[in-house]
Amino acid sequence: MMNDPTKNIAKDLITEPGINHNVESKLSWYQKALERNEIAPESGGKIAYFCAEFGLDPKLPIYTGGLGILAGDHLKSAAELGLPLIGIGILYRHKAFEQKLTPAGVQEERYNEIIKEQLPLTEIRGVDNSLLIGEAPLGERSLKFKIWRYPVGVNSLYLLDVDIPENPQEFREITSRIYPGDKTLRLQQEILLGIGGMRALRLLKIEPNVIHINEGHALFSIFEKARQNMAPAELSFSASLERLQPSVIFTTHTPTPAGNEVFDPVELRKALGKYVESFGILWESWLDYGRVNQGDSSEWFSMTCAALRVADKSNAVSALHGQTSRGMWRMLWPEIPEDKVPIDSVTNGVHVGTWMAPQIKALITNTDQSRRPDEIAVESIVEENAQAIQSIPNENLWNTHQSLKSELLEEVARRSGVNFDHTALTIGFARRFTTYKRGALIFSDMNRLSKILRNQKRPAQILIAGKAHPMDQDGKALIREIVEKSRDERLMGRVLFLENYNMNLAMALVAGCDIWLNNPRRPEEASGTSGMKAGLNGCLNFSVLDGWWAEAYDKNIGWKIGSGENHDKSLEEDSRDSQEIYDTLENEILPLFFKRDQNGLPADWLERMKRSIALTTERFSSRRMVCEYAERFYLPAIKSRK
Ligand SMILES: *Cc1c(COP(=O)(O)O)cnc(C)c1O
Repeated sequence: MMNDPTKNIAKDLITEPGINHNVESKLSWYQKALERNEIAPESGGKIAYFCAEFGLDPKLPIYTGGLGILAGDHLKSAAELGLPLIGIGILYRHKAFEQKLTPAGVQEERYNEIIKEQLPLTEIRGVDNSLLIGEAPLGERSLKFKIWRYPVGVNSLYLLDVDIPENPQEFREITSRIYPGDKTLRLQQEILLGIGGMRALRLLKIEPNVIHINEGHALFSIFEKARQNMAPAELSFSASLERLQPSVIFTTHTPTPAGNEVFDPVELRKALGKYVESFGILWESWLDYGRVNQGDSSEWFSMTCAALRVADKSNAVSALHGQTSRGMWRMLWPEIPEDKVPIDSVTNGVHVGTWMAPQIKALITNTDQSRRPDEIAVESIVEENAQAIQSIPNENLWNTHQSLKSELLEEVARRSGVNFDHTALTIGFARRFTTYKRGALIFSDMNRLSKILRNQKRPAQILIAGKAHPMDQDGKALIREIVEKSRDERLMGRVLFLENYNMNLAMALVAGCDIWLNNPRRPEEASGTSGMKAGLNGCLNFSVLDGWWAEAYDKNIGWKIGSGENHDKSLEEDSRDSQEIYDTLENEILPLFFKRDQNGLPADWLERMKRSIALTTERFSSRRMVCEYAERFYLPAIKSRK
């Protein structure tokens, strides 16, 4: 027997940067509900949060993009709010790849191993001090794993690791890399995450009251929990699953049908046939959970479809994405009108402690001298004192922004040898290179762009960063095209592609740029979170009305592209949008940026920066997001299981 390893961690041992435990908890009602036994006391009201990637710490790059960063921010805010939420993920052997570009702009990938000794990771051991070893089914064999704990404040992230001598060599390779192109490996990873993850909780003696699967990769955890509950409750598999349902929450992140993962039933049967036999149901009936047309044996198994079926509450990640998802999945509920399809939405948010530059935080906390420094959390100041940001003196905000911008441009100079203009309007564009994000849109008319960037009175410049998935040839071609265009003599010195977009580079860009550009094809951006990070730092958004921006946009905090119409992927529409980008830059953004008052400050611009900081801190923080999940989903789920 071992104790719950999350229990005895003293707060003074907590070392992670950016986590503030002295926040007057917004979730005190949750703690009180626990104390009043409104929540089953033996449970502790624990929430198990499963995700295939976590972007918590730049030194632990087991994330490839927005989904992982979101999961990391979710864990951080939950820990700050005192919510007993446990993360479950995979410790891959290699870091997500480092991107190198050849002189011709060809992306090359470098894979380095994660050096565990340099991280606050501890292996979980049992009472006799031997490693706890779990197993997940793989065909006739079993995949063994050990468990690492990574502390997140008072909470934990548990990471499964199959690279152990108990496994044959080929099994040790399964989690070598995150999101492998090979479907078999991918399935094996998802079996580990879901089934292994749920078994790991049992080994850790953690009995979750809520299971939150963040994206469909961890779907199998739900089947495993239902299986575990069958014998003690003397229930059939389907009755057990039905009884579990009120505790299951599923968040979908994928607004395009192609993005939703499906598996070939033949492959699935090889890996899980024997395991599913233990449910006492027919193989075909199990497959039906993942089939839109149940009984159609030609249909592949969709992880999203099955997750929507087994979850009590499903949600998308912005209001618009909710609408898109209800339309996409309405065929699962043919008897009800589309707006009643049970897919709700909780708009994403970002962790202010991580993504707001310390210098901006200091400006805000300085406005509230009545608090002891250890009580200071930017979010509570902004929530309780709407004037906090308005009362920052213009000069202080401008000087702070200029110094963050200088830091960024000095870093750019160190990396590239190119000296950028510290007075020019600096536009940031950083995101994954995938077709729908239209990374090359701003280069549609090179002459016009050159004229805008090289305007002597009102110069501008563009910094670009982002990776393409190693298998995505179109994404890689986009990077080549952009690198080539940035070297065109018309743009030379005004546009630069920065290699290896990651959390650190993201932080430097969102804090140091003036404008954050985003031009996806609506509605393919489920939420987008980099724009929120920019907004927190007073970098103003200029974006298509997609994802979060469709609900955040206001002409007093930023600019829009288009009028909120969905795209149909036509060339005319690309040309229309690029013209609009040039027009808005020339006629609105640049004149406003260069308009100075009698003190030499861009007062109107600074007004927008302040509103942007206030709005994103209040409405698009992961603290607000986690509170919403807790109030709308977690607590009702726990109560319903009493
Ligand atoms: C925030 C972040 C993302 C996600 O941003 P999007 O706006 O969704 O593209 C991706 N990668 C990194 C490194 C980030 O910090």
